[in-house]
Amino acid sequence: MAYQQQGQQLNQQIYQWFRMADQSQNGQLDFHEVSRALRNDATSNFRPETCRMMIAMFDAEGDGKINPYEFEKLWNYLAQWRQTFNQFDKDRSGAIDRAELSQALQTMGYRLSDSFVAIALSKFDPDRTGNLRFDDFIRLCCILNSLTMQFAQNDPQRQGRITVAYEQFLTMIFTSAI
Ligand code: CA
Repeated sequence: MAYQQQGQQLNQQIYQWFRMADQSQNGQLDFHEVSRALRNDATSNFRPETCRMMIAMFDAEGDGKINPYEFEKLWNYLAQWRQTFNQFDKDRSGAIDRAELSQALQTMGYRLSDSFVAIALSKFDPDRTGNLRFDDFIRLCCILNSLTMQFAQNDPQRQGRITVAYEQFLTMIFTSAI
């Protein structure tokens, strides 16, 4: 067995998918292999920016590639997001529209105005469809979470407002998962 890591067992089904994605058969998925493997549905793949984000989040070794253990974690993470996405896609259109996004963010505990939800939607909807695809929805939620955590660290009393210096502000953004 090529991959033995801390005695962990790989899920064999997920490992099969890994091997199918590993077209160069070198035991690692590079950016292009990840891009081909991650799909929204039968017709669309994840955008490059979402693939980069997923690699950055799950590349524990820090070599810019995804090994079978990292892939299994990534796969399970996306399976959870798939459930969340389907739960909020009330009309089963395969996409999250503005009303569904508003409801989703509220359910996740965010208190955001309608106008901000509209801004968030347009930011992550580059094709101007008025909807978020699966990968766009994940990316929006990850960035929102990352920036919210940065804000919360500077807002220990949870007042909903902070005072930050210019470079501190830039650091908050640059150290977020954006
Ligand atoms: Ca929908």
